[in-house]
This record gives sequence, structure tokens and C-alpha cells, in this order.
Amino acid sequence: MTGIDLHCHSTASDGTLTPGELVRAGAAAGLDVMAITDHDTTGGWDAAAAARPTGMRLVRGAELSCRWHGAEPAIPLHLLAYLFDPSEPVLAGELVRLREDREQRAEKIVTKLRADGVPITWEEVSGYSAGGSVGRPHIAQALIRAGLVRTTTEAFASTWLGARYFVPKSDLDVFDAVRAVREAGGVTVFAHPRATVRGRVVPDELIVDLAEAGLFGLEADHEDHTPAQRAQVRALAERLGLVVTGSSDFHGTHKTVRLGAFQTDPEAYEKIVSAAAGVPVLG
Ligand code: AMP
Ligand code: FE
Ligand code: FE
Ligand code: ZN
Repeated sequence: MTGIDLHCHSTASDGTLTPGELVRAGAAAGLDVMAITDHDTTGGWDAAAAARPTGMRLVRGAELSCRWHGAEPAIPLHLLAYLFDPSEPVLAGELVRLREDREQRAEKIVTKLRADGVPITWEEVSGYSAGGSVGRPHIAQALIRAGLVRTTTEAFASTWLGARYFVPKSDLDVFDAVRAVREAGGVTVFAHPRATVRGRVVPDELIVDLAEAGLFGLEADHEDHTPAQRAQVRALAERLGLVVTGSSDFHGTHKTVRLGAFQTDPEAYEKIVSAAAGVPVLG
């Protein structure tokens, strides 16, 4: 048995464990392989690598905020990118742009909340993100501190960050993202592609086109997919010759899912590693 979890967040984005704590927690949870996939950043890579327990293999990656412009309004989606060269200028430049946009957008959300008398500040929210990629969970943290909601999930209700105080991000076009990751020697996997609980999902036809453009895999086993959705994703992947992954999408205490709750088969993992050439797996 090999424990493989290819989608985990740290404090480099909206997780609550530092990269070092994350890899140690992964080892404690029985994982042999884990990927660090913070939103729009490689900022946790070095600390995770430095803290990597003996015997643990570390896949360095990121989760890219993307958008498909084939629907009106465009549909946001997440692409997991693995083992890409972080110094490749096009992709690195896009990551900087995405993080800067996250900051501006979070500030706008805070301004909206403050206009309605909500007692939180950008300084507080920015402090929670601690130099990492800022996201709505950090604003949720401020709302919890202010006693307005009890949990992150409550903060994502339509009366709060889900709609009333929602501001969109200017994400990366999904085809540009697939191309940029390939150019950087990496591999892309479409994260939770059928998770209707998160909002609108893209049609199968887009996934067909993305596969042609170089998409490598689909994340099937994820807590936001129902058993039927997992089966749909597996069937589509089989039809298109894409690898299938399963992962926890661990975020520490910002979510309830545990490390290793969903896992990837060793064969799929090996295919990802074989297809990537940007940076090696560590360990
Ligand atoms: P953002 O990237 O700033 O748009 O915020 C989205 C992030 O918030 C996702 O990556 C999740 O980690 C988290 N998230 C989204 N929806 C929820 C929810 N309903 N409950 C808890 N966390 C959520
Ligand atoms: Fe997240
Ligand atoms: Fe995601
Ligand atoms: Zn994620």
C-alpha cells in the first residue's frame, strides 16, 4: 500500500498548516507521496522540501485559478499543475499576476464589507494570509473573529462571501494555463471538474478540447464529488485517455477533510511523474 495525496494546501495559500507542518502531518497520516498545491503560488515549495520527512516523496505543484470563456459569464475552474519549472518566465509571470489580483480583489471585498459596517480591516486579513496567496478563507477568518459567522463554511453563504460580498478574480484563461504549464515542463490535472456544489461546471466538450490541448488528467475522487460524479469523471477520463487522480484538497482547519481522505493510484502517479520534466519529485 502506498499512500498518495496529490492536492494539499499550506499557509502559502489558504491552508492552516505551514508547509513544514503539512509534510510532517502527511507522514503522520501514513502518506508516502504528497503534493503541495497552493493556490497560484510556489511559495511553500522550499519550506516543504526542507521539512520533508525521510521516505516521503514530495511532488511540487500549484493549483491555478483559471476561467473558461466559452460560457457567459465565464466559468471559473481550478487546474492542478505538477512538477513545472518555477523559473519559466511566462508561467512565473502569470502566477505573480494572479497573486496581485487576489490582493486587489480581497481588498475590494473588505471595502464592501466595511461599507456595510462590518468591523474588519485589510490589515487584519492581510495578516492572516501572512505573505502567502490571499483568498476568501482569510476574510472568513476575520468574519469569524468579529463574531459574525462561526465557520468558514458559514462565511461562504450567499449572504456573505458567496454572493453578497463576492468579487470575481481575473483568472488565467484555461487553455493558456494548460499551455504555460506544458511549456514549463509540468503536467496539468483538472481539479474537482464536476463539483456542482461549488457552482457552475464546464461541459464535457471543454474537457475534450482541453485533452487535445495537453491536459493530462482529471481529479475524480474528491469530497466535493458525489459517487455518481466520480463515476462520470472516471468514464470521461477513460474515454479521453486521461489519468484519474483522487486527493484530499486538504486545507487544515479551513475545511474538515483529512489528509489522505482521497488518494491516487500508484499507476496514475507514475504516469504523471513520467510525463513531467520541469522539476523532479523530491525523495
Ligand atoms: P478564493 O480562492 O479566494 O476564491 O476562495 C476559494 C477557496 O475557499 C477555495 O479554494 C476553498 O479553499 C475555499 N472554499 C470555497 N468554498 C468554501 C466553502 N463553502 N467552505 C469552505 N471553504 C470554501
Ligand atoms: Fe483553497
Ligand atoms: Fe480547488
Ligand atoms: Zn485545492
